[in-house]
Amino acid sequence: MFRVDTIYRISTFLICQASIDSKLNLFFYPMNQNLLYQLVERIGNFLRVEQRLAGKAFGLQEVHLQVLLYLSLCNRYSNTPIAVTEYLNATKGTVSQSLKVLETKGFIVKQNDTNDKRVVHLILTEEGQKIIKDVIPPAIFGDAINSLTSPQVKSLESNLTLLLTALQQANQLRSFGVCQTCRFFTKKDSGFLCGLTQESLSEDDASRICREHESL
Ligand code: SF4
Repeated sequence: MFRVDTIYRISTFLICQASIDSKLNLFFYPMNQNLLYQLVERIGNFLRVEQRLAGKAFGLQEVHLQVLLYLSLCNRYSNTPIAVTEYLNATKGTVSQSLKVLETKGFIVKQNDTNDKRVVHLILTEEGQKIIKDVIPPAIFGDAINSLTSPQVKSLESNLTLLLTALQQANQLRSFGVCQTCRFFTKKDSGFLCGLTQESLSEDDASRICREHESL
């Protein structure tokens, strides 16, 4: 299940990146790049349709589900409106409207930061968590991944990660990597520590994605 989630998360991120690069002229690409682009686009289209259908049942658009998914994966340093904007590569206006919808429907609540009152954290409510659990990734996507062998899934996961990293670097985007792969992640006798904030990290924190992540 973890791998299905991981591949789905990378795939949905790639949809956002593919739309950035759609302005590039495919006809000037060498053949293998053209094919790769078409594959990512087709997977993206497929996931978009599935997300649209899943969201419709709750009166939510695809972008609303992407916000909820992000908030279900990120850590406490990254659940802010600006981080959502960066992760989705969306405009501030789109994210602001989406947050209003999600708040009105009771899927998220806003909480002021205890140390810095200017910072607002976006917290998933129980209803918000339930939607993510129920509809993401779509069952059909899980079935497709489960039909592959373990080595195929592993290879897919690492190759998609490579592609995502290359796109992020080309677009100078933050990596939003998993905490335990960050250069600031420190193991102590008493547990884990973030070398950037000097705060303790739980096991759950270590498995979440972070806006401040920097690769080793
Ligand atoms: S160790 Fe890195 S990824 Fe983890 S919380 Fe600190 S800055 Fe974020």
